[in-house]
Amino acid sequence: MTAGAPIAFLDLKSQQRRLGSALRERVDAVFDHCQFVMGPEVAELESRLAAYAGATECVGVSSGTDALQIVMMAEGIGPGDAVFLPAFTYTATAEVPLVLGATPVFVDVDPNTFQIDPNHLALRIAEIRVTGRLLPRAIVGVDLFGQPAPWHALREVAAANDLLLFDDCAQSFGASLDGRKLGREALATTLSFFPSKPLGGYGDGGAILTDDPERAALYRSLRSHGEGKARYEVLRTGMNGRLDTIQAAVLLAKLDVFDEELARRDAIAQAYDAGLQNCVRTPVRVSDSRSAWAIYAILAEDEAARTRLQAQLRADNIPSAIYYPLPLHLQPAYRDHHDGAALPVSEGLARRILALPIHPELTDDEVARVIVAIRQA
Ligand SMILES: *Cc1c(COP(=O)(O)O)cnc(C)c1O
Repeated sequence: MTAGAPIAFLDLKSQQRRLGSALRERVDAVFDHCQFVMGPEVAELESRLAAYAGATECVGVSSGTDALQIVMMAEGIGPGDAVFLPAFTYTATAEVPLVLGATPVFVDVDPNTFQIDPNHLALRIAEIRVTGRLLPRAIVGVDLFGQPAPWHALREVAAANDLLLFDDCAQSFGASLDGRKLGREALATTLSFFPSKPLGGYGDGGAILTDDPERAALYRSLRSHGEGKARYEVLRTGMNGRLDTIQAAVLLAKLDVFDEELARRDAIAQAYDAGLQNCVRTPVRVSDSRSAWAIYAILAEDEAARTRLQAQLRADNIPSAIYYPLPLHLQPAYRDHHDGAALPVSEGLARRILALPIHPELTDDEVARVIVAIRQA
């Protein structure tokens, strides 16, 4: 068998062609008015994102990581505080509490949905209280791979323990739970516009959604060096965390076609589901939800089977990716901050998980080729 033409894992060139002149016109407008920092596109994007999610407020920021940092800085999270988060997520979720001097407490995930396990979360909070060295302060729910975290249960655990609740929605903007878009499940919801996210820009960018106007005002101050009403009045220690005007312009063009893109991702996911059933474990849906399909992750039988799958895909010029090869509590940077709790589900997933290409540019023929290659392996 001769290998097919290379399939892209993310195809930003074709995406630009599909967006056509709308994209160029938006970016050219910025070059014309020259307000490269906090230009009008930033406010326009903020109001459109808030409306999309049904949230009261949206604050554009420089990245999903900075969005997390700003919402935690706003609550004064720092040394001595415990921040509970899943071990199976992107590094930024754990990095931010550490940067602020707080301690991430890793929680295991559900073996079916890969989302944070609320029962284990409650157990971990109780453990931390008993040891008494850290003050439980906050929970970060992560909407992993495009699907919602178990928000009903997370709110119950947060309320029972009097903890702050944040939504790291970097991978899942556009997803919905119980018929409503993500963005209002927690005190603050953080978004990322990294190019590979469902709503991706052409560089770094992020945003914070909240229904609390006072917090939104605080986030606006923090993203701009802690400034007050007057530009050179410094009220608090902040950061340079503003969203770039050019990125806002790109995102405005992309938001116009975002729902079509989500529908295309969903159609690809359904085609994979149908083609791969009884062959590998396809993604289990979180109930009453719609995924944004940032990532379509299958589970191989074991690590050796995954290696065979990847080799078979590579032989037909099909890319695949491992999110995540190591759970965070085993990462060199974080393992010394881990209290040693067993997190067997996260460790098992890291050995078996494999992400297949899923992006709006993928053709039906390409999807069929991926299915054939996996069935052959
Ligand atoms: C991508 C991502 C982030 C960080 O977003 P950046 O914009 O790259 O800083 C945070 N959390 C999760 C779960 C992510 O996937």
